[in-house]
Formats: sequence, structure tokens, C-alpha cells
Amino acid sequence: MVDRLANSEANSKRIAVVESCFGAAGQPLAIPGRVLIGEGVLTKLCRKKPKARQFFLFNDILVYGNIVIQKKKYNKQHIIPLESVTIDTVPDEGDLRNGWLIKTPTKSFAVYAATATEKSEWMNHIGKCVGDLLQKSGKSPTGEHAAVWVPDSEASVCMRCQKVKFTPVSRRHHCRKCGFVVCGPCSEKKYLLPSQSSKPVRVCEYCYLQLTSGSLGPRSDSISRPGSKFNNLSDDEDEDDSSD
Ligand SMILES: [Zn+2]
Ligand SMILES: [Zn+2]
Repeated sequence: MVDRLANSEANSKRIAVVESCFGAAGQPLAIPGRVLIGEGVLTKLCRKKPKARQFFLFNDILVYGNIVIQKKKYNKQHIIPLESVTIDTVPDEGDLRNGWLIKTPTKSFAVYAATATEKSEWMNHIGKCVGDLLQKSGKSPTGEHAAVWVPDSEASVCMRCQKVKFTPVSRRHHCRKCGFVVCGPCSEKKYLLPSQSSKPVRVCEYCYLQLTSGSLGPRSDSISRPGSKFNNLSDDEDEDDSSD
């Protein structure tokens, strides 16, 4: 994390540069009162594997994108309103060190910094920005978060039935409720999770039962389509994280 910008003229200039690095496909980032707090490269754990992404922390949003040319050109811009963000530390495991979760109602994922110092800087700053925003708005922290998807590589067999082995034909699917990697037969049901999508999304058998048995969750807007697996073969592809 670099560039703590107190001087507002330098801040405006820096925001304009960030905006131009994303080009015409990016959103305008310069709005009154917005401050760029810090920036840096973090490793984002995507569906297929960890990938380097450029992150920018503003006082109200977190922006990230793919690196086309380091410090010059980024694409695939994502903007996360900080008000809905919760962060959680992730214990070190193997090569994946200095990580934490960025959880939001629509999407949650893990990122990793190069050093422990960078990690604590990022987490402290994000935490402070979120706290300041909530204090200003009087809102309470977001309660519900999208599941963090288990990476494909961590499951060679279905995490629910423990039987079906994944192959190019027997494909992996992700339950949108628990984030587990599951087989087709274990995830034939769809359920409406309004914070994630306006359409019902794939859930595993276990989560479907949980969602439909309790009074929690949306009424009975859920639909069960046991015969629809062939129609849905591409639905995980649509939201495949590997492209972002
Ligand atoms: Zn299964
Ligand atoms: Zn599930």
C-alpha cells in the first residue's frame, strides 16, 4: 500500500490518473469528497487459481481490476461500496499467506498481500473506512454475505456426496449459499437469494433443505427444477470468476 494522500490537489490528480488507467470502460471515479486512501497489487483467489489484481481503496469504495500494463492500464473494473463490506482474517496456509476475506452481500472472496505488514495496513484502512461510513450514515453493518467459493482445485470429489469424482464430463458446480464445490446431482435445485440475483440460483441439496425447511429466507419463491440439468449446463460458466 502506497501513497497516503492528504493534500487534496494531489489526491484529485491521482484519482484522475487511476480513472484514465481504466479507460473508457471504467466508471468515473472523481466525485466530491472522495479520497484515495491507498493502492497496491493483491492476489485474489479466483475460481480456478490465485491471480494478481490491482486494488484501489477510496474512503467510500474499493475498486479493483485486471492488470494489462503495470501502473498504466487496467481493465475489468469492479467497484464495491465499502458500506456493505465486512473483512475477516484468513489463517496462512501453504503458499497462501497474509490473506483476508472481503465479504459483501453480492460477492465474497479472499485476497492475499505480499507481507504481513501490508495485510495489516490494508485491513486497518478498510476497517476504518467502513467504520467511518457506518458512523456517518447511522446504518448497522451488513448482516448477510454471499458465500466465499471454494476454489475448484480444492475439490476432486463432490463436497456433499463425497462420491462423484470430477472429470471434464462430470463438471464442478458451486452452491451459491455455502460456496461448496458440488456435483450436478447434488445441486439440481435453484433458490431465490435476492441479494445475489433476481433469478433463482444454484444451491446444493443440503442448503436447499435448510432454506426450505426454516422460516428463514424468502417465502416460497424457490423453484425446484429436477429435470433441468441439461438446460443449466452453462450456468456456472456465466458467473465464472476466472474471467474477472
Ligand atoms: Zn455430489
Ligand atoms: Zn450449499
